Amino acid sequence: MTETPKSLARRPEWPSSVSRPVATPLQPSVVYSSPDPTALDKQYAEGTGYTYAREGHPNATVLAQKIDMLEGIDMLEGVEGGIVNGSGMAAVSTVLFGLLKAGDHVIGADQLYGRTLRLMTQDLPRFGIETTLADPTDAASFEAAIQPNTRMMIVEVVSNPTIRIADMEGIAKIANERGILLMVDNTFTTPRGYRPFDHGADIVVHSVTKLLAGHADATLGYAVAKDPALNEAIYIANTTFGMTASPFDCWLAERGLQTFEIRYDRAEATATTLAEALAGVKGVKRVFHPSRNDHPDHNRALQILGNRPGNMLSIEIEGGRPAADAMTRAAPELPFAPTLGDVGTTLSHPASSSHRALTPEGRADLGISEGFFRVSVGLEDPDMLIAEFTKAIAESQKA
Ligand SMILES: *Cc1c(COP(=O)(O)O)cnc(C)c1O
Repeated sequence: MTETPKSLARRPEWPSSVSRPVATPLQPSVVYSSPDPTALDKQYAEGTGYTYAREGHPNATVLAQKIDMLEGIDMLEGVEGGIVNGSGMAAVSTVLFGLLKAGDHVIGADQLYGRTLRLMTQDLPRFGIETTLADPTDAASFEAAIQPNTRMMIVEVVSNPTIRIADMEGIAKIANERGILLMVDNTFTTPRGYRPFDHGADIVVHSVTKLLAGHADATLGYAVAKDPALNEAIYIANTTFGMTASPFDCWLAERGLQTFEIRYDRAEATATTLAEALAGVKGVKRVFHPSRNDHPDHNRALQILGNRPGNMLSIEIEGGRPAADAMTRAAPELPFAPTLGDVGTTLSHPASSSHRALTPEGRADLGISEGFFRVSVGLEDPDMLIAEFTKAIAESQKA
């Protein structure tokens, strides 16, 4: 063979080394070259290795395996690992569009994440899938919504933004007895607070964007089904609908996960302290955190979450929109931003964001007034947070 001229377009051989990198390498390659068609054929047949990044790449694999471990999947017989998706909504969508068909019926909790609610009320019906919303704090309301064609139930353990606790045991029992798939969005609770597969769930999804990645710099999801055939259908939907995660985001999230447990424990402890402190502040009407005796589902929280009340709390302050405006303006250390699970504490105001599409009466039914704030507690010093909140609430009461 004659030597072909060198080209800058040709990729160099990767330098080999007996020693290995300690940090996870980032692999952005869109495509992988194979030695010959027979080798490629064999690779497809066996479903091993990588061919094209939309179908999977090493950074997604490494991240998915870590979340599998958190969810305890490596301890469950016959359960294969989950997949990582381009966002939490991609995770929800791949499950719904991968497993449902026209003519099916889905029951969803009436306080699901806003976009999931939109899927339930607007998008699934466009594809001929019927949906009903039910109250997750009352398993009987899920039971009453069952139809002969009910295929799936969708629940979040802790509701957004009112921090109500779903009757997971009651709902799982009904779903399991009737052969209805139970999908749990475990974003708020995380596997540190609740492991759905240990309590009758068939499918688990996450917005990895939030507490798991934890630094508000990567948008990702995760989905897994207990049944390998369903898992395969979810993977196929993910690949076909192009819900693939970016290698860089996966790399960031995998790095973030290394500190997930200590971040979660710290934020949760601070949330408990902050909830206690805020309950005594003038101008605060109510504080919602599962750790509190006056939480409407306190006993259920103890039963379902044990000692893991989580980092999410909500408060209601006196006064309407002017008080709410004054509060966010007076708290420069508490970014007013509609997300959760960041290293820093963030505030969100459902009446102007996630729940703005509802009428004031509709919001009132859920207990969401203009003075209602959701707080995602981060890693700051608890005393600093108490001081910042106390100052901002005092300012709000002058408005
Ligand atoms: C944020 C969130 C989602 C959607 O996740 P994205 O990564 O923003 O797409 C779904 N469910 C819950 C409970 C969430 O908080």
